[in-house]
Amino acid sequence: MEKAKELKEKLFKDKKNGWETLSDSEKQNVFNFSKEYIKFINEAKTERECVKKITEILEKNGFINIENKDSLKTGDKIYYINRYKNVYAAVIGSEDLKNGFNIIGAHIDSPRLDLKPNPLYESEELALLKTHYYGGIKKYQWVNIPLSMHGVIITKDNKKIEINIGESENDPVFTVADLLPHLASEQGKKKLNDAITGEDLNILVGSIPYDTDEDITEKVKLNILNILNKKYGIIERDFVSSEIEFVPAMKAKSLGFDESLVAGYGQDDRVCAYTSLTALLTVVNPKKTAICLLADKEEIGSMGNTGMSSRIFEYFLAQLLDKTVGNKPGLLDEALKSSKILSADVTAGYNPNFPSIYEKNNESYIGHGISVIKYTGSASKGGASDANAEFVGYIRNLFEKNNIAYQNSEMGKIGVGAGGTIAYILADKGSDVIDCGVPVISMHSPYEITSKFDIYNAYKAYEVFYKDE
Ligand code: MN
Ligand code: MN
Repeated sequence: MEKAKELKEKLFKDKKNGWETLSDSEKQNVFNFSKEYIKFINEAKTERECVKKITEILEKNGFINIENKDSLKTGDKIYYINRYKNVYAAVIGSEDLKNGFNIIGAHIDSPRLDLKPNPLYESEELALLKTHYYGGIKKYQWVNIPLSMHGVIITKDNKKIEINIGESENDPVFTVADLLPHLASEQGKKKLNDAITGEDLNILVGSIPYDTDEDITEKVKLNILNILNKKYGIIERDFVSSEIEFVPAMKAKSLGFDESLVAGYGQDDRVCAYTSLTALLTVVNPKKTAICLLADKEEIGSMGNTGMSSRIFEYFLAQLLDKTVGNKPGLLDEALKSSKILSADVTAGYNPNFPSIYEKNNESYIGHGISVIKYTGSASKGGASDANAEFVGYIRNLFEKNNIAYQNSEMGKIGVGAGGTIAYILADKGSDVIDCGVPVISMHSPYEITSKFDIYNAYKAYEVFYKDE
């Protein structure tokens, strides 16, 4: 019998709960790391706020805007900001850049409610804002939760007004009002996805009329505009040149009696953005040039000039070549062909409330470490970039050598759904790419759940990847 036990230990792939592998001091590191992470996601709830916060962190750690550097040498730390919504940071390595970069790419946009161009209206003496949701949301989850308002408004004289209402203790919040159950028998018969429609996601923003003048209509709307005008100097037309996002106003917090989990908005994909950024801060005089890329627009298909499909990333890499070895035709393609990339994006964590959705042998489990995903895509693997076995082998050996807790998974049973990341866009450039991120329960909801153990392992995994020679 003893022999069978030994043989099993030798041959089976173990599925250890990560917490069981930690010493008390390691556990402390895990908890301390998440404390800072929770602070970050509470302070950075939009891609613009992320870029601002990340720039602060980078500058505090000696990174310099690449536009202020004419040439770059080994050990230099630089960053580039694209239109306030997308940022790249790099530590220059000693090896010729044409031999490739070690790149980790995450995204900093998250699902939310954006305002339509003409949002403000009044109905039966209540003022509301029309929204157009951004990213894949289950709409019924976004009613009757506190929402905060974030973003920018560009005025007639090209002034940029920055707005953040609903995060401070004394700020008001906003909400989308659902129907009371007493009157919801018809709504209750509808399919879950139809019970609240996109056009139902109207945000309640006020109820006091401007004055008692009988002849004036839409007095509540007028009062709201007057308040906004007094505070920000804006008029109704200024909404057309704005990017206003309503996001959950709830604070991210530790979850559970044991405080092992993090609950909070925007963890897809700020958990990978934060861990890949903080891992880069530990890179000193590397051999390979290490790059952290944080993209916008992933949740709506990576299009646009701040999304991964944009050529701005290549522009940035060309700048690196230019300011080190001197760029020339074909050099960027050569560097990209030789680059290794982790597409750092979250995946679905097993949710015990819905066991039938999962194929239990091939799921990501909370508390089992970072998830390595060879391919995403739909039932046929359609749309997946599908990493080569050789590259998966490289990653797996790197993680094993460095005691990184990792797991390999898909996302749900074949055909139940699909998800995608920026992996295929980067693979198109000729690099080796694999998805590698933190499992999340209730992804894309206003209150997503992750494990502090997995977050810490993502940080460690990204660190060894950047530093690998
Ligand atoms: Mn994502
Ligand atoms: Mn997502």
